Amino acid sequence: MNTRQLFQQYLAQTSAQPVGLHITAAKGNYLFDAQGKKYIDLIGGISVCNVGHCHPKVLKAIQDQAEQYLHVMVYGELIQTPPIAYAQKIVAHLPQNLNCVYFTNSGSEACEAAIKLSHRITARPNIIAANNSYHGHSMGALSVMGSEYWRNAFRPLLPGVGHYDYNSQAMIDAINEDTACVIIESVQSEAGIIAPDKTWLKALRDKCSENCTLLIMDEIQTGFGRTGKMWGFEHFGIIPDMILLGKALGGGMPMGAVVTSHAMMNTLTHNPVLGHLTTFGGHPVCSAAGLAAMEILEEEKLITQVADKEQLFHQLLIHPAIQAVRSVGLLMAVELKDNQIVLKVLEKSLNNGLFSDWFLFADNCLRIAPPLTITQNEIREACAILLACLDETTNNSL
Ligand code: PLP
Repeated sequence: MNTRQLFQQYLAQTSAQPVGLHITAAKGNYLFDAQGKKYIDLIGGISVCNVGHCHPKVLKAIQDQAEQYLHVMVYGELIQTPPIAYAQKIVAHLPQNLNCVYFTNSGSEACEAAIKLSHRITARPNIIAANNSYHGHSMGALSVMGSEYWRNAFRPLLPGVGHYDYNSQAMIDAINEDTACVIIESVQSEAGIIAPDKTWLKALRDKCSENCTLLIMDEIQTGFGRTGKMWGFEHFGIIPDMILLGKALGGGMPMGAVVTSHAMMNTLTHNPVLGHLTTFGGHPVCSAAGLAAMEILEEEKLITQVADKEQLFHQLLIHPAIQAVRSVGLLMAVELKDNQIVLKVLEKSLNNGLFSDWFLFADNCLRIAPPLTITQNEIREACAILLACLDETTNNSL
């Protein structure tokens, strides 16, 4: 069997047509396949590799920690320096009320923990979420996901979840004293990069506060500088009660987190004791890698470069087949006519050394979410490839 056949034989498949590129190395802003062919990575592992692939400082942090110890005990019993140091660093970049971190292994688990916490804190039955939202694929996260197509086959799901349009007055009106939490993304990513209206978000925040409803913001794709600020919510002048982290959090290692206040988090210590547990959450090697990545963001001043790079993409991505380019920082959607064209452009791009993707709830859009380390020249090269592939594709089909 060749490698592709082995991949299909032994690994569970979830995609009808997996990209199926055999990756043998990833460095900086590039992926390399088994033939040694190099690809500009325009999606950074879906908003994970914000500091580029295999940054030497991340690798060193992993090596150093691996030489000290790997796993020693489940969550919350032994004192381990890496998760403490990392939590301290994260909290230093957050408003005062977000001062206590619970590390999980993934974004979905962060979502599960937040749902549990919001019920525990408020003792209320209902949750409000947004249509076209994505928070993960575990049962709780799936219950709040804003797509009936993905939810329907997996019922029964959590009861008491109401879905409303993002940016809608209906979502605000639905909040009442039975609402435990509102969970939304600070920018809707899988919906094809939909930013919240500032006034709407402020009104949503106010209504949550009036009703003692928790506002949970999913910063899993938007965190760690992706949008040009450390956190997505910073663009919109509000402060959530809880945030969900993941993706870039681990610097390329698996990690998630919920961040909220001490007072709220402390409910997990009693009635019941051990109110939330995880074997590997806050793993020392992942924490060391994540901390190193966050230090790199600061040292290399990557976040301050995001706006210029975003602008350059906008300047270059002009083509009759491009219907819109939506972005908040380096989280971008290039809207084309339909999914057929997107898939053709993606295939041609891959042949020409460029790796990109589409969005779950906006399959007529190309995803651009490169490592924040992408250079201006690499942006030019990537856009030239995209435009040439668009020319080739649309000459036949426009
Ligand atoms: N929330 C958002 C906004 C995401 O994009 C994702 C993953 O794509 C998740 C939650 C779930 O994270 P994970 O895949 O690590 O469980």
